[in-house]
Amino acid sequence: MGNGEFTLLGRAFIRGNILALTGLHIGAGSGALAIGGMDNPVVRDPLTNRPYIPGSSLRGKMRSLLERSQGLVSDQRIGRDVKIHVCQDENGYRECDVCHVFGVPAQSWSSQTRLLVRDTHLNGDSARRLEEAKTDLPYTEAKWEVAIDRVTSAATPRQMERVPAGAVFGPMEMSFAFYEAKDVQRFGLVLRAMRLLEEDYLGGQGARGSGRVEFQGLSISCRAGDNWDEIPRWSPEAGAEGFTLPQLMGKPGATERLEGWLASCLHLA
Ligand SMILES: [Zn+2]
Repeated sequence: MGNGEFTLLGRAFIRGNILALTGLHIGAGSGALAIGGMDNPVVRDPLTNRPYIPGSSLRGKMRSLLERSQGLVSDQRIGRDVKIHVCQDENGYRECDVCHVFGVPAQSWSSQTRLLVRDTHLNGDSARRLEEAKTDLPYTEAKWEVAIDRVTSAATPRQMERVPAGAVFGPMEMSFAFYEAKDVQRFGLVLRAMRLLEEDYLGGQGARGSGRVEFQGLSISCRAGDNWDEIPRWSPEAGAEGFTLPQLMGKPGATERLEGWLASCLHLA
């Protein structure tokens, strides 16, 4: 079945920046060309050579953490560091908010992925500061670590490339499509997954302290149906903007107020 049966009610956008509170290692995978013989290179934008956060990495980790928090079994590997769950039949899918939000691979039943996460690039200011700092490699630091072979106990020194703590990636954008009234509640899962990510880590080497991130300067805006204009941003305080997640969602009743605002933007209320 095609997507013709889905009518887009509108979209909401979560925008902001991602601050690396500790060094960040998002691996480029084994196929990538390593600079200077680096064993574990980070993923870089081929045009600018700057490290970036692929939307798929951010989205995959958010999904995986949300699933774990809901007791779902994540048994399908995507990338080196992340496993996700995928509903295998339509009955399961119908009840599964995670698969509605994050999608399922092409299936025999019709489905529509709600959440799109764009790649987030190093912001201009951080890029400039890292250029001036003359890091080990362009924009990154190389950390030596010792890998112990479990069979032979031999210690092998390896180099691990990380974007230094303090780097800011932005602008970040997540776009959420609404197809039915229930999606208003599902939107909250995205914010919950972002919070779970802050409490966990992004990329590799989390057990060694890498990948602690914080979302900053967040805003939520909404656009109904085929309108071009986004309606004024949702804000927990009148006139204020640019929030952290706790500022945005931490106040009592914030979820209900956000849902009411989305419903009215989408003309569901
Ligand atoms: Zn599912």
